[in-house]
Amino acid sequence: MTRMDDLVVVGAGPYGLSIAAHAAAAGLGVRVLGRPMASWRDHMPAGMYLKSEPWSSNLSAPGGRHTLADYCATRGLVAEHGTPLPIGTFSAYGLWFARHAGGPEVEEATVTEVAPRGDGFVVRTAEGPPRLTRAVALAVGVMPFVNFPPALRDLPPTHYSHSSGHRDLSRFAGREVAVLGAGQAALETAALLAEAGAMPCLVARRSRLNWNTAPQPLKRPLARALRDPHSGLGTGWRSWMWSELPWAVRRLPAPTRERIAATALGPAGAWWLRDRFEQRVPVLLGHHLHRAVAVGERTRLGLTTAAGESVVLDVAHVIAATGFVPELRRLELLDAGLRAALATVGGGGTPELDPRFESSWPGLFFAGLLTAPSFGPSMRFVHGAGFTAGRLVKGVLRRLAGRGAPPGSCGGSRVDRAAAGYPKTYLR
Ligand SMILES: Cc1cc2nc3c(=O)[nH]c(=O)nc-3n(C[C@H](O)[C@H](O)[C@H](O)COP(=O)(O)OP(=O)(O)OC[C@H]3O[C@@H](n4cnc5c(N)ncnc54)[C@H](O)[C@@H]3O)c2cc1C
Repeated sequence: MTRMDDLVVVGAGPYGLSIAAHAAAAGLGVRVLGRPMASWRDHMPAGMYLKSEPWSSNLSAPGGRHTLADYCATRGLVAEHGTPLPIGTFSAYGLWFARHAGGPEVEEATVTEVAPRGDGFVVRTAEGPPRLTRAVALAVGVMPFVNFPPALRDLPPTHYSHSSGHRDLSRFAGREVAVLGAGQAALETAALLAEAGAMPCLVARRSRLNWNTAPQPLKRPLARALRDPHSGLGTGWRSWMWSELPWAVRRLPAPTRERIAATALGPAGAWWLRDRFEQRVPVLLGHHLHRAVAVGERTRLGLTTAAGESVVLDVAHVIAATGFVPELRRLELLDAGLRAALATVGGGGTPELDPRFESSWPGLFFAGLLTAPSFGPSMRFVHGAGFTAGRLVKGVLRRLAGRGAPPGSCGGSRVDRAAAGYPKTYLR
């Protein structure tokens, strides 16, 4: 076993890399484990664009340095308001940030277990020796939480996939593919399939698709700007609130926060995708999937319309673009006893966090999607990394200095470590 780190960051996406940059600047002995920008490099089809504006897609480093615009300037690339940015450029920006923003070199390892050990944690990986650390920041992103409609679960794995399972959609050329969902991932996947020579059909429960409108210019008359302010999550006061006041969201009652996290900024397509989609992709709106049956190499989807009619769709493959559902119980790398002991938001599936992202287990911090029911919808987007990274690192510093709040002091139910089955030596 090696020396004890101050902080191990699990995950090297926008949140993990930002936390690492702030932690290193604060003088912490920090280690980052994970494949840098893996969600963007491995789990999104080539040809996708960012939906967020470039100026709201910055990773966070102390002093606001190492922005996407800084990276683009070094490469002669364009990162302008109203101009969609290719995901390849964003992935390359993340890798550049990992090298230049002052964080430690990322160790490309898969973490298999985080468990309590003495006054801190042991972190095991698939590749190397276990690590000991005083604090852990779990910034594992979206992939542990892929969501499939239950009706698909009995199909052979060759017959269906998640939208995050594809880098190259050209293998579907000439084949009929049902794409399930109504959000940006569903709409863009379907458009890219059509452009790759496949025959997609979008199937959605909603009766109509929502499309965002083209963004207003950054510089506008004052009256217009006051009526519809820009924010990191889009225009309008509601988006501004989620984007700029995550600390205020955390003060709302737990059921309200859970509702906001589940419903705010619902599914909608980007303005620049609309023509590409509408010209090429047939849609079945208001159709509920209730059954999926494999017939040889093909799949029959049993759908029901709002009027109760049955429709059968026969396809070569089904892609579920049905998003990600953050739930602690699916975070298998986290020791089961520790998971069960955590205070949760409203008794639900996500950790309750203090203002500095520390869970009810001292020294265990969370970032990204799992924190949306605590701090609101901006935690689902790169934009939230700016709010998260500095605060979380302050929380780590406070914890390591021994000035932290007593265990179980954050908003949810108190932790009973003894009840979680830990010997007294693990208790603080
Ligand atoms: C198709 C799609 C398009 C999107 N477009 C946008 C957009 O335009 N703008 C925007 O702001 N947001 C967008 N998002 C949301 C985006 O996922 C998040 O904003 C952002 O990636 C969150 O960063 P993160 O660091 O939390 O997670 P991720 O980017 O998912 O990174 C998580 C990291 O954790 C690592 N990891 C996971 N498990 C382990 C483990 N066991 N061991 C080691 N490492 C592990 C992964 O390898 C990865 O590097 C999009 C999401 C999808 C799916």
